[in-house]
Amino acid sequence: TAKDRGRGHAVAYDGNMDKDVSQRRFFERELRGAVLTGEIDVHLQPIMAADGRRVVGVEALARWNHSYRGLIMPGEFIPVAEDTGLIHQLGATVLKRACQAAVAWPDLFVTVNVSPLQMRRGDFPALVQSVLNETGLSPGRLVLEITEGIMIDDPEKALVAIRAVRSLGVKIALDDFGTGFSSLSYLRKFPIDKLKVDRSFVRDLDMGAEAGAILLCVINVGRALGLEVIAEGVETEEQATFLRNAGCDQMQGFLFGRPMEIGEAGRAIRRGRTVHVEAA
Ligand code: C2E
Ligand code: MG
Ligand code: MG
Ligand code: MG
Repeated sequence: TAKDRGRGHAVAYDGNMDKDVSQRRFFERELRGAVLTGEIDVHLQPIMAADGRRVVGVEALARWNHSYRGLIMPGEFIPVAEDTGLIHQLGATVLKRACQAAVAWPDLFVTVNVSPLQMRRGDFPALVQSVLNETGLSPGRLVLEITEGIMIDDPEKALVAIRAVRSLGVKIALDDFGTGFSSLSYLRKFPIDKLKVDRSFVRDLDMGAEAGAILLCVINVGRALGLEVIAEGVETEEQATFLRNAGCDQMQGFLFGRPMEIGEAGRAIRRGRTVHVEAA
């Protein structure tokens, strides 16, 4: 069936096809179980203030700890979760774990990636409200990361959903900014709070002056609209210095910390604070 072939397989037959199809079937079957039994885990990556020394927030990133395949990354299983409808339950689990963890760090915000499919469901704001109630996290400390896709597919519905969650006091960040289509016109129409500059712009910095000029433009768009600007994928001191001088509010990347288990993140956050206090 068309569903079994999945996306990206409407091509002429090649030798990888059987492998891909069986891989997809394996994932579908296993993912259902994983969501039910809690094999889906949440890792947290620190988000730093522009000075690069103080942790101000964490991004929650889903991980699948498979019993014998080991760690499976979201790039592999989120599309399967979206195709099968498992994304709603998976997303709810990630949201709850992330909020539960964040309660322990009263000064930090926590960002959670939300699939367009989740946002579009009418009961999504109610889910967010119930997770906030259950965990006791104050709404202003939760940031939901959405992508431009949601604005382009069904702008009206997206606007309603964004307004509904913002009316709870929750913030909205636009993730992977600059990689989509009609970025600028949509930015004006949608009430968002933060903008995450896609890591491809940061990575290209090493390629010379033009790349720097483009990155600067992207940052300035966010600043001009009064949004908080977060740079993703910061890996080197040179990149961090450029971004700081360009007026980025926050930075995230392997230079400061990889995504890590919740317990380890807690220790890293405490270390981060210590550095800050000593430096002050
Ligand atoms: P994203 O939301 O843009 O998350 C950032 C990704 O960049 C993460 O990959 C993170 O590990 C990676 N990253 C962070 N800093 C650096 C760096 O300095 N260098 C490089 N090369 N990479 C860096 P990850 O965890 O594999 O997640 C990939 C994507 O999967 C996420 O991109 C997000 O779109 C999606 N995703 C992850 N968790 C969830 C979830 O719970 N729900 C949904 N709907 N999507 C999720
Ligand atoms: Mg994200
Ligand atoms: Mg991102
Ligand atoms: Mg990205």
